[in-house]
Amino acid sequence: MIYKLMNPIKNFPWGSRTAIRDYFVIDNSNFEHQAEIWMGAHPSASSSISQAGVDVFLCDAISNNPDYWLGKGTKENFSSLPFLMKILAAEEPLSIQVHPSKAAAEIGFASENELGIPLDAPNRNYKDPNHKPELVYALTPYLAMNGFREFKQIVANFDAIDLPAIEAFFLPFKQDPTPSSLADFFAAILGLEGEFKVQAISQLLNSLKTIDKDNFAYQASLLISRLSHLYPEDVGLFAPLFLNVIELQPGEAMFLYAETPHAYIHGLGVEVMANSDNVLRAGLTPKYIDVKELVKNTRFHPIAFESLLMKPINSQSGHEVYPIPVEDFKFDVLNPRKTMTFTTSSPEILLCLSEQVTIISDTEKRDLCKGESVVIPALLSEYRIVGKGSIARVYC
Ligand SMILES: [Zn+2]
Repeated sequence: MIYKLMNPIKNFPWGSRTAIRDYFVIDNSNFEHQAEIWMGAHPSASSSISQAGVDVFLCDAISNNPDYWLGKGTKENFSSLPFLMKILAAEEPLSIQVHPSKAAAEIGFASENELGIPLDAPNRNYKDPNHKPELVYALTPYLAMNGFREFKQIVANFDAIDLPAIEAFFLPFKQDPTPSSLADFFAAILGLEGEFKVQAISQLLNSLKTIDKDNFAYQASLLISRLSHLYPEDVGLFAPLFLNVIELQPGEAMFLYAETPHAYIHGLGVEVMANSDNVLRAGLTPKYIDVKELVKNTRFHPIAFESLLMKPINSQSGHEVYPIPVEDFKFDVLNPRKTMTFTTSSPEILLCLSEQVTIISDTEKRDLCKGESVVIPALLSEYRIVGKGSIARVYC
């Protein structure tokens, strides 16, 4: 069977009131902040399917019949659907964050359990024992920060700005830029408090005004001043000086590795991630920041700006395969020009991004319009796609 998904919409204050409504023509008559649509089996907000005329949560359907849904390989490696796909519409920035590695998540989750910290406590870091690698695929221009800049760029940014209050933290890094001196510098900025923090941020915002267009720090300065309207007292305002700032264009994608600081600032995109909720925050948030735990889970290595964009491999005409470096999910974008045939060995979710296609199995046909999604069990074995449209395909 091919099952049409009914997906929960998550309203968060940072979500756009219009982006999802307009792009996917999804009703928003109450003008809510439609931040995310979740397509998956996450127990906290599972999609539903109709089975024999009855609506059931996909998470329950899978746990009642894991062989049918997951197939042998996925069932052995993961006990449930290993991935979650979202449509994400950021009107305002999301917090700067880092996701732990799998090994660190296992240790952190066990130790917080042992300490008896409730799962919903504000100082709880690890919600589950899993890592959370992410991919984001832009549907509109999509502004984000991802990974530390090359060290000489970080030095150039801080050199361009007059910041006597934090000079003592910057100088050791400037004189000897290494992952370890960057870790000390970054932790010192995140740890700024009280009057000292107020002074540093006010020097930052005042100095921004003096940076002209030709200066390397200009791009970061634009983002800092934009963020300062929403977070005027947040240490995250220093983040654009440290992190790559990138605007994906529609159809471009990037991967967000474990232990890499990142933030989504603005735009509509498809996000795919491992089934986890482990987030360590690093700014642009009123929520808890555990600097010590954050630094422990961060790789202080630069990521070259030129390497941020993922280059898909064209396995056949209209079939782009993104080289995902983890086991939890795979991601393709399909633009069928003629019938495409796929063999399933894992559960799959297909989301129609434009126009309309038809998904055909041996026993049925399902039309899929823009914004609609289906889930396909591993044991379906084969399906075909016909029609004209663009489809995001997630499987593992
Ligand atoms: Zn993230």
